[in-house]
Amino acid sequence: MKSNTVTFSAVTSAILLLTFSVVTNTYSCQYPGWQQKVNYDMDVTLNTSLHQYSGDMNVRYFNNSPDKLDKVFWYAFFNAFQPGSMMDVRSRNISDPDARVGDRILHLPEDEWGWIKDVELTMNGEPCTVTIEETIIVTELPASILPGGYADFKMTWNAQVPRQIRRSGWMNKEDIEYSMTQWYPKLCEYDHEGWHSHPYIGREFHGVWGDYDVSIHLPSGYVVAGTGQNTGTIEASVKSGDWHFTAENVIDFAWVADTDFITESVAVDNKLTMNFLHTPNDEYDKPWTELPRFAVEAMRFFNDFVGRYPYPQYTVAQGGDGGMEYPMMTLVRGNRSLPSLVGVTVHEMAHSWFQAVVATNEALYEWMDEGFTSWIESECMAVISPEEMTKPRAGGAHASAYYSYTQQALSGNEEALSTHADHYTTNRAYGVAAYSKGEVLMEQLGAVIGSEVRNEAVKVYFNEWSFKHPGPLDFKRVMEKASGIELDWYFDYFVNTTHTIDYRIHEVKTSRDVARVTLERVGVMPMPQDLKVTFKDGSTMEYHIPLVIMRGNRPLADNEVLSPDWPWTNPFYTMDIPTQGKRISKIELDANLLQADVNRTNNFIAFKGIGKTNFIRE
Ligand SMILES: [Zn+2]
Repeated sequence: MKSNTVTFSAVTSAILLLTFSVVTNTYSCQYPGWQQKVNYDMDVTLNTSLHQYSGDMNVRYFNNSPDKLDKVFWYAFFNAFQPGSMMDVRSRNISDPDARVGDRILHLPEDEWGWIKDVELTMNGEPCTVTIEETIIVTELPASILPGGYADFKMTWNAQVPRQIRRSGWMNKEDIEYSMTQWYPKLCEYDHEGWHSHPYIGREFHGVWGDYDVSIHLPSGYVVAGTGQNTGTIEASVKSGDWHFTAENVIDFAWVADTDFITESVAVDNKLTMNFLHTPNDEYDKPWTELPRFAVEAMRFFNDFVGRYPYPQYTVAQGGDGGMEYPMMTLVRGNRSLPSLVGVTVHEMAHSWFQAVVATNEALYEWMDEGFTSWIESECMAVISPEEMTKPRAGGAHASAYYSYTQQALSGNEEALSTHADHYTTNRAYGVAAYSKGEVLMEQLGAVIGSEVRNEAVKVYFNEWSFKHPGPLDFKRVMEKASGIELDWYFDYFVNTTHTIDYRIHEVKTSRDVARVTLERVGVMPMPQDLKVTFKDGSTMEYHIPLVIMRGNRPLADNEVLSPDWPWTNPFYTMDIPTQGKRISKIELDANLLQADVNRTNNFIAFKGIGKTNFIRE
């Protein structure tokens, strides 16, 4: 699995001093050029009075790995919704439980439990040995699947859909009848990091790329939307209760059904349609009528900012318990104000780029999923926001992420980003790490390699890693190649440790023509620095100070001066600023607020009036 080993290797710096540099090359294996593939051909019949369904599927599994497989694993997510399950126990023991779960699983009556059972499975016609270990179906194969080979599985099973608790189930709080997510036996991913069969305790999904052909039978009158394309007309399917969807090259398949759904479809262009489904309600009909305009704008923004959305449709459906992303669709709670509805939709849509298409293992590298998604969401919201949301956000589009992360870091309860998503000791530590620190990691790269270089590299990353499972090392390499800067230290500190950034102005000594400024690294994490000097006449000077370990520097603005590299082992850095007899009014570090400096009060000095312009910080 994943290892967070940090090794120290000595390098001799160009200035003939022995420097120690943090080098990490073990926090993720790099993508090896192969990945598994699986095709599902599924037929399910839902009994809407018992909330049970029977399923039948043919699965062709291609073993593209160099390894012989004697076992495979499948998720049986619904088995989490029974008293005493790992998810139930986790929810009752964590200090800050998700209010949507709490002790609800413990108190489910038996007819509201979820389960998947009666699993019958053959491989190439031979029976498999099946052991259901709660949310994972462990399967011993009758013969090995050889490298480069494939196996044909045939599975039948029975399932009971749980009363909706976390994301999936029947009759959610807004009476949406079926939110069918994580609902079928889904093959776990085997990749260059091995099997990923972690039990389901409430979050994070990872999947094998493949094609889905899904037939759903339920009583007439239901409107169904799902991942992929509906091959019939909605009218005919509502009447017959027979629905058929196909989806190519996705990592999952979700669907939603209700008898009252109103559907609206909008063509974004001749290759892409967006669909919106909600149930009629006086309180939230209006925001749902206004949503499509913003969602289409967001789609265009992401196409331009990251890369072209590759699928033919995207559906926003009322359902689930908050907002959750699935390939080609999202389920969101419907009773919201317009800003909230647009905000959640934009976030979940953004996952189409970072989760559905660039499908990082979000259990292991949650920051590459939620963090990158939050980052492009904030970029998008700054552009498309409904009027009532356009009040300027102090500190820019990403200010709230910086605030949450720095507050968490200062609280002492931060856990490293490299923690497995399920294993943080609090939900808050997970949330701040994955969403806020992940967003900061991306925005803060602007201070290291330059914001424009970063933005262009994000497009390259999307382009190179679409329909793959990149890890941290793969992302780091894209950023390094785009910038020519070594970034091991940046990812190692920010992902694998909870060390923080705090730089300050230590001392200023002014003579007639020169100000001698001494900066100090107070926090453990090194960062390149940007110093801005403002003179009393309003003119400014800007200096960029790279780190030695970067072996390069970001592009400079026209008015910026490149200062000598800072060897990170030195706590202090002294520079002479020519003043040409002008008096200084202010000296400031990181004036663009790109760094997650945990103490900004020591980042600047203002010299008032005509008094002294010398300063020493005690
Ligand atoms: Zn998300």
